[in-house]
Amino acid sequence: MAATKVIREVLEHHRRLRTGGCTGRVCPRCLRHHRDAIAAAMARGRTIEFLLPAFPTKSPNPAKVLGPLPDLAEELALRFLESLCERIADAYPPGARIRICSDGRVFNDLIGVSDDNVTRYVHELNRMIDRVGATHLDQFTLDDVCPGDDHAQLRTRLTAGRGPHPDELRAEVRRGGDLVHMYRGITRFMLEDLSVPGYTGSRAALQRRSRELAYGVIARSRAWDALLAELFPDAVRLSIHPQPCSTRKIGLLLADTPDTWLTPWHSAAVDTGDGRFTLMKRAEAEAAGARLVTAHGRPSHFVLPRPGTTGHIPVSATGAPHHAR
Ligand SMILES: [Zn+2]
Repeated sequence: MAATKVIREVLEHHRRLRTGGCTGRVCPRCLRHHRDAIAAAMARGRTIEFLLPAFPTKSPNPAKVLGPLPDLAEELALRFLESLCERIADAYPPGARIRICSDGRVFNDLIGVSDDNVTRYVHELNRMIDRVGATHLDQFTLDDVCPGDDHAQLRTRLTAGRGPHPDELRAEVRRGGDLVHMYRGITRFMLEDLSVPGYTGSRAALQRRSRELAYGVIARSRAWDALLAELFPDAVRLSIHPQPCSTRKIGLLLADTPDTWLTPWHSAAVDTGDGRFTLMKRAEAEAAGARLVTAHGRPSHFVLPRPGTTGHIPVSATGAPHHAR
C-alpha cells in the first residue's frame, strides 16, 4: 500500500521520546496511527501537505550558534526535508509539500530575540530555500496571517482566545504526563540561552526565570498550533520535538545528532571529516579544535580535525555540500 510506503519514509527519521512507548526501527503503532491521514490525502489524488512548526530564529546565545542568520545547519536540514519529499514523490507521484511554519515571531520577545532578527532570519531562510532549489518546501509565519500588522499586535491577536494560560500548563506539568518532557527540554534551552557571557545574577534566579519563560513559550506555541489547525485542517502534523507513541504529531529528526533535543537553530553544523555532518554547540566545537569555515561572506560551519592532526588541516570549502548547486 502506497500510504504505508509514504509514512514509512517519514518514520525512518522519527524523533521519539526515550520513554514514549515506540518500538522497533519503524514503530508499527505509529505507522498505523498516522497512515489514515496520509491515505485520505492520497485518496483525493492530492499532494500530501505536511506542517512543521520549526526554524524560529537562532538562539541568542553566542556560545551555541554562529550568529543570528541561518547557516549550514539550517541548509542541511532544508536539504534533508526536500529529499524526504522527493522520496515520497517516488512512492506517490503527486508527492508531498512541507510547509515550514516558522514560529520565531510567536515567542521571540520571550527569548530575548529582536523582531528585526526574526525578520532577517525568515528572509534569509526563504532565500536559502530558493538557493538550494527546494521546490517542495515553503515557509509560513505569523506575519502572513495579518500582513502589515505590528508584531506585538500579531502576538496579542494570536493568543486572544487561543492557547492555555501559563497557570493551566503549570497544573498540567504538576500532574505529570507528556508535557513534562517538553517543559524540561524548553526550560533547559531557556537556561542555556539566558546564560550568556556577562550574566552576573544567581543560578537560582536564572532557573526561576527559565521555568517561567518556558511556560510562556509553550502557551504561545500551543496558540500557534491551534491557529495552524484552523488554517490548515487537513495537513499532517510534524514536530521537531520528540513525541509519545501514536499521538497527534510525528516527531521528526532534522539532523544526525546524539542529542534528540538539539536543533539547527541551537547549534552549528560540524563536518566530522568522514563526509558526515553533526550538530554541536559552538563552544563545544571550538573546544574540540574545530576550524570555522565561512561561506557567502558569513560563518557557515565547523570542520573537526582528523584524529592525529593538530586541527590545522587545510579544507577546501568548495567541496562542502553548501556549494553544490
Ligand atoms: Zn510509536
